[in-house]
Amino acid sequence: MNKSYNGRFTPRPDAVRAAYSAEQVLQAVDEAVRTGKRIAVRSGGHCYEDFVTASDVEIVLDVSQMNGVTFDPEHQAFAVEAGATLGQVYKSLYYGWGVTIPGGSCPSVGVGGHIAGGGYGALSRLHGMVVDHLYGVDLVVVDQHGRARRVVATRRPDDPNRDLWWAHTGGGGGNFGVVLRYLLRSPQAHGKDPSTLLPTPPATSPGVTLTWQWADVDERAFTTLVRNHGTWHERRPRTRLSSSLALSHQATGQFQLLVGVDGEQGDVGRLMDDYIKTVTAGVGAAPATTRSDQPWLTATLGAETYAGGTPFKSKAGFLRRRWTDRQIAVVHKYLTDGDQRWGASVYVSSFGGKINTVAPSATAFPHRDALFSVAYDVYWSDPADQDEINWIRRFYQEVYADTGGVPVPGDANSGCYVNYPDADLADPKWNTSGVPWHTLYYGDNYPRLRRIKARWDPGNVFHHSLSVRPQA
Ligand SMILES: Cc1cc2nc3c(=O)[nH]c(=O)nc-3n(C[C@H](O)[C@H](O)[C@H](O)COP(=O)(O)OP(=O)(O)OC[C@H]3O[C@@H](n4cnc5c(N)ncnc54)[C@H](O)[C@@H]3O)c2cc1C
Repeated sequence: MNKSYNGRFTPRPDAVRAAYSAEQVLQAVDEAVRTGKRIAVRSGGHCYEDFVTASDVEIVLDVSQMNGVTFDPEHQAFAVEAGATLGQVYKSLYYGWGVTIPGGSCPSVGVGGHIAGGGYGALSRLHGMVVDHLYGVDLVVVDQHGRARRVVATRRPDDPNRDLWWAHTGGGGGNFGVVLRYLLRSPQAHGKDPSTLLPTPPATSPGVTLTWQWADVDERAFTTLVRNHGTWHERRPRTRLSSSLALSHQATGQFQLLVGVDGEQGDVGRLMDDYIKTVTAGVGAAPATTRSDQPWLTATLGAETYAGGTPFKSKAGFLRRRWTDRQIAVVHKYLTDGDQRWGASVYVSSFGGKINTVAPSATAFPHRDALFSVAYDVYWSDPADQDEINWIRRFYQEVYADTGGVPVPGDANSGCYVNYPDADLADPKWNTSGVPWHTLYYGDNYPRLRRIKARWDPGNVFHHSLSVRPQA
C-alpha cells in the first residue's frame, strides 16, 4: 500500500494500519506508544519530503478511508474527515450546500496535510486561506502518561483548547496528533443555514491560457514578460484576477501564462483583456491564446489523470516583491540549459488579496505580506539519479544568492510555505543565511508553536525532520 505521490521515497514500514473510525485511530496510536514504535499518519500521501516515508517510520496510519463530508449541527460547521481529498471536498460541499473552501488546485491532495499547513488556491485572493475558515479540529493526541485521547479544539475565545486549534492554522501536519475531522465555518458567518456558512464559488470560471513557444522567445522577451507580470500584481494586490506563470523548461518546447477571474462580478472580459495587454506589452513574441468559460466545479476538478509515483524535488518561496532583473536572469539561465530537463519548471502564482488582510499572528500561517507564491520543481525518471536534485539546489541557491540561498523574510521575501517542505532549509550547506528553517516557515509564530507542542505532544510522538520541536 505505497500511496506516496513522490517516487523519490520508498517507504518500508513494519505495518500500515488503515483506520475507518476514531476508535481505530486511538488503537493504532495506542499500539505505537505502547510498543515504542515511530508512527506517522498519512491522508492524501502528497508530502514533498519523507515525513511519512522515512526509513525509521515503523507504523503508517492511513486515514484515507475516513473521508466523509457532513454538516455537524452541534458545532454549526462542516465536518470534513481528514482522509478526504480536495476533489471529494469540493464535490460534496458544492453538490450538498453550494459552498466551497479556497483550497488548492490538485484534486488528489488530502486535506489531512493540506489544511493543517494553511491551504491556498485560485479562490484565495477573494476568500483567503482555508485556515481562515477553520472553526475547529477534532483529533487524537497523546498525553504525558502516553495515553491516546480524543479532543476537540475550536477558535472560540473561551475554549480552553484554543491553542491547539491555532496550531492547526498553519503549523503543518504530523506535529501535534492525528486529525480526525476539520470543522469549517467562515469567521463572519452567522445563522443556521449551512449554505451561508462558507464561501459561495462563482457559477463559472472564465480563463485564458497564453502559450509561448520557447523557440520564439529570447532572453529580452522572457525578461519583459516576467517583469510585466510581477509589476502588474505589485500595482494591483487586491484584484479578483489571479494568474500563474507556468515556466516550463525549454526542453518541453513551451511555457504558459494562466489567467483566471471570478466570473460573477463586473466586466470580466475587459479586466482580462486589459491584463493581457499590459503583461504582454513589449514582449514581441506572439503567444497562442485559448479562452474557456467552464462551470466552476468542472474547471476546479480539471482533468487530472496523473496519479503520482515519479520522483520529484520541490523548493519554494513567498515573494513580497517581484523577482529582481538579476533573479529573472538566473531563472532564464536555468530554464534554458540544454534540452534534456523535461520535468523542470517554475510556477509563479499570484498571492495577496484577502490573504493579506489577516494579521501574521492571527493564524500560525505567518506569510500575510506575500504577493507571489513561487514553486521550483523538477521531476525525473530514475529514483537513484541525484543530478536533478543538485541542479534544482544550485538553481534555488542562485535565485536567492543575496540572502544566503533562501528567501529570508524581509523587504523582498516572506519565507517558505510549510506545505511545500524542503529539508535543505535545515542544511547549512544550502541555507547559508544563518536564519533557521523554522523562521522561514513560521516567522515569529515558532515560539508559540513550541509551547503548544510541549503541552499537547509532550512525548514528541508525532515528529519528522522539520517538525516543531517541543519547548525544552
Ligand atoms: C501535485 C501537488 C499539488 C499541490 N497543490 C497545492 C496547492 O494548490 N495549494 C496548497 O496550499 N498546497 C498544495 N500542495 C501541497 C499540499 O498542500 C501538501 O503536500 C499537503 O501536506 C498534502 O497533504 P496530504 O494529506 O495529501 O499528504 P500526506 O503525505 O498524507 O501528509 C502530509 C503531512 O501531513 C501529515 N498528515 C496527514 N494527515 C494527517 C492527519 N490526519 N493528522 C495530522 N497530520 C496529518 C503527514 O503526517 C505529513 O506530515 C500540492 C502538493 C502536490 C504534490
